[in-house]
Amino acid sequence: MGWLTGWLVPLVLFTGCTGGGTAEKYSTHFYGVFDTVVEIQAYAENQESFQRFAESVETRMRELHQLFDIYHTYDGMNNLKTVNDQAGKKPVQVAEEAIDLLSLYSEWYTKTGGAVDPTLGPLLAVWHDYREAYQSDPSQGRVPSEEELEAAAQLCVFSGLEIDPEASTLYLKHPGMRLDVGAAAKGYAAQLAAEESSKEGVFSYLISAGGNIIASGAPCDGRRSKWAVGIQQPFAETAGQYADVLYVTDCAVVTSGDYQRYYVADGKIYGHIIDPTTRMPAEEYHSVTILGEYSGISDLLSTAAFILPYPESRRLVEENGADAIWIFSDGRIEATEGAVQVMRDLGGATAE
Ligand code: AMP
Ligand code: MG
Repeated sequence: MGWLTGWLVPLVLFTGCTGGGTAEKYSTHFYGVFDTVVEIQAYAENQESFQRFAESVETRMRELHQLFDIYHTYDGMNNLKTVNDQAGKKPVQVAEEAIDLLSLYSEWYTKTGGAVDPTLGPLLAVWHDYREAYQSDPSQGRVPSEEELEAAAQLCVFSGLEIDPEASTLYLKHPGMRLDVGAAAKGYAAQLAAEESSKEGVFSYLISAGGNIIASGAPCDGRRSKWAVGIQQPFAETAGQYADVLYVTDCAVVTSGDYQRYYVADGKIYGHIIDPTTRMPAEEYHSVTILGEYSGISDLLSTAAFILPYPESRRLVEENGADAIWIFSDGRIEATEGAVQVMRDLGGATAE
């Protein structure tokens, strides 16, 4: 699978991107990171500029995927699986991006009252195994017993995570502890990759990584000044059905939902986002979409907002200067004022 798949190169005149001239629209996508497809669209002055940018984003996301991976080890690298394997034994030296991500988690553990917790690994692993069993054989849709969940929860000890930025080490103090950074790794990696990649000759871009979108600048087609981002209709029967469309620029748009990663037992849906207080999948919403400045933080916020009851969820979003759209399990939609302003259907926004 080459990274140069999916070219789309209409030549267009643009205004407002660099003050005159021509820009071409390019797009590509790649697989194999964070269990999803990553799509990149950009307006650039030529193919080389786009290629340089897209290759750099891909290379960086692959590195970060390996660093945050809890299922595989890689030659010559300590990653989060190494940290998990050394739980109760010794601190593990890791690259500073892992220290930074876990530090960000710690900050948000406090801000969300523990709703997002990187040490929930043992509990998430139980649900992961039941989901996998269902995927390999849908007649195996079962729910873990309370005892099993209780035993896993005993190993989820946030205070047992030691982050030492000086030594650049992570240590899980008790045997059986396990990190899981699935709630933020994708958004965080996409953000770092976008920030660090050379934008020479790239006027604007949109990176989409499985529910995490970074929209930078505006499309250079002279007709629109905003990127259009669809909010998927949960459990829509055909792909491409949107609950609404957002018109955005310079913004991270991150969605957490129960309609893609889930399984079914006795006719009931069990999603992959787990409420630590009940140890069960959160089920008040089908999706929560965050609009924020940074994709790493917005990713943490989307998972937390998906777990918390609505008034608390809304307070968390607003107190942290973000906007959000909640699609409740009964289909009701709520949105913050800032979100309504960029919504096509519920807010009447346009791409102009
Ligand atoms: P997202 O799609 O960004 O909401 O992330 C969902 C992923 O985050 C799950 O697949 C788990 O790996 C992880 N996760 C689920 N529940 C929690 C939680 N309460 N705290 C931290 N991580 C979680
Ligand atoms: Mg998230």
